[in-house]
Amino acid sequence: MSASGLVALVCCDLGAIVRGRSLPASELAAHADCGVGWVPANQALTPIGTLAEPNPFGSTGDLRLLPDLDTHVRVAAPNDASALELVLCDIVQTDGQTWECCPRGFLRDGLQQLRAQTGLRVVASFEHEFQLLGDEPLALPFSLEAQRRAEPFASQVMAALGEAGAAPERFMPEYAAHQFEIPVAPADGLAAADRAVVLREVVREIARRNGARATFTPLLDPAQAGNGVHIHLSLLDDDGRAALYDSSRPACLSDLGASFAAGVLAHADALSAICAPSPASAQRLSPHHWSAGAACLGLRNREALLRIPPLVVSLGEPGPQLRLEYRGADAAANPYLALGAIVRAGLDGLRRELPPPPILEDDPALLDKAAAARHRVGGLPPSLQDALDALARDENARAWMTPLMYEAYVSVKRAEIAAAADEELHETCGRYAGIY
Ligand code: GLU
Ligand code: MG
Repeated sequence: MSASGLVALVCCDLGAIVRGRSLPASELAAHADCGVGWVPANQALTPIGTLAEPNPFGSTGDLRLLPDLDTHVRVAAPNDASALELVLCDIVQTDGQTWECCPRGFLRDGLQQLRAQTGLRVVASFEHEFQLLGDEPLALPFSLEAQRRAEPFASQVMAALGEAGAAPERFMPEYAAHQFEIPVAPADGLAAADRAVVLREVVREIARRNGARATFTPLLDPAQAGNGVHIHLSLLDDDGRAALYDSSRPACLSDLGASFAAGVLAHADALSAICAPSPASAQRLSPHHWSAGAACLGLRNREALLRIPPLVVSLGEPGPQLRLEYRGADAAANPYLALGAIVRAGLDGLRRELPPPPILEDDPALLDKAAAARHRVGGLPPSLQDALDALARDENARAWMTPLMYEAYVSVKRAEIAAAADEELHETCGRYAGIY
């Protein structure tokens, strides 16, 4: 790694904004154990640029951003331009203990709870969609033309993501205007969420270098498809075996996997407050957006909140392929909070040994009334406020965060809801395009 230029020590905050402080890169090694200063009230900063009021922190207190050097990223820039260099940090107290409002700590705790109570380990990947803002004429969805027009951005972004260790797998044009998708390889839970944070920043950086802006906003245009963040996850047992797979069960989903899925579905409404947490998010989750129009488990079904993707014979062993895809998240969600919450919801399903949920195999648009109700078509909360109310009502989910983190989180979300209260949806969508 080069030691010239600046390296940013950053965290991803409750509103999924990456914030931090920079050092001369030559100073990084000297700050590996002490990091840089940070302020509790920073976790009450909203994505709309204000400080949430009231918030539980006020003007007092001091913290540190402690770099995890395993996450050191450097994406060189051509012609001696400034490299993007950053290290993801834990937020710790001055005595070195993880601060209770650290999102990375929230995920690490959730993964440890799962491990301690079941022996299971999470392998995950975050699949992002985004749009390039601009007035260029539209190319057709999924077309080679759309892909070629995205050059040199497309090749540069894939190279930069590789350089950043984000393990990109594909670059593909998507359905909405100037929309693209980049799936990445799976990694252990914490590393997967780290990759999600890095991916967003690298995509924005390479767009900037091309004089463009990439937006991950959940819904750019209410009349179009939105930008999802689909979270794929599988579980490994103590011996490293794929614990979701059982060829003798429906959809090859093991009893353990079915209970985990049932836990996620049991907390689906509360999860929306954490995974789809902007005032523009809920509309993306309504039916016919190919996102999560039915709050159910679906086999190869892109309208289901939890999808079981196909097992492909030519890809080899089916066990490691079997995963659950949570389709209800977007980039307004902090990846650590989203995965940490999904894991806790699944763990609750395992603890309660919940029975297998019904599996939706049809297009929900074709279901009769009773079947639509059974599969909760259009079932997710219709607004962020409804999602927050669901989180408040769901006692188990309400306790996932410490009271302090919960209070801070709700104050940030309330500020966003208030700012959007008098806007039409398209105005809110336009504003969030500039944020994410
Ligand atoms: N754009 C859809 C979403 O908002 C996802 C489309 C797909 O990749 O299946 O989640
Ligand atoms: Mg897609």
